[in-house]
Amino acid sequence: MTVARFWRETLRRYNLGASKCPECQAVFFPPRSVCPNCSVHRKSLTKMEACQLSGRGEVYSYTTVHEAADGFEMQVPYVLALVKMAEGPMLTGQIVDVDPKDIREGLPVRATFRRLRADGDDGVIHYGYKFALENGAAAKK
Ligand SMILES: [Zn+2]
Repeated sequence: MTVARFWRETLRRYNLGASKCPECQAVFFPPRSVCPNCSVHRKSLTKMEACQLSGRGEVYSYTTVHEAADGFEMQVPYVLALVKMAEGPMLTGQIVDVDPKDIREGLPVRATFRRLRADGDDGVIHYGYKFALENGAAAKK
């Protein structure tokens, strides 16, 4: 398995698993076992289908964080964005590898799998999704 394949598989397995309602086609992340849109009729109960988000989306809104939360001190300033995924769900995540002044609403982004933080000097390393601009997105302004 190539390194790229490994990371794609890991991303799929641990991060962007969602669920889809077969009645109204709504996609939920994190996955839900019942569709809130259809719950009145309980049609979705036990019928929700597992699916994966493509990882593609666009910046819906964003803020630049200057005061870091514990464990993020080395990363300020960084951009925290609300990303509307291609499938519909909204995800909150950090935008990496970008100058905060280059971010704007509507920019296409893609989920990327990164180290979030480490607990202590030799502690557990947490991985998760962040977002990066699609290639060339910032250059097109
Ligand atoms: Zn539904």
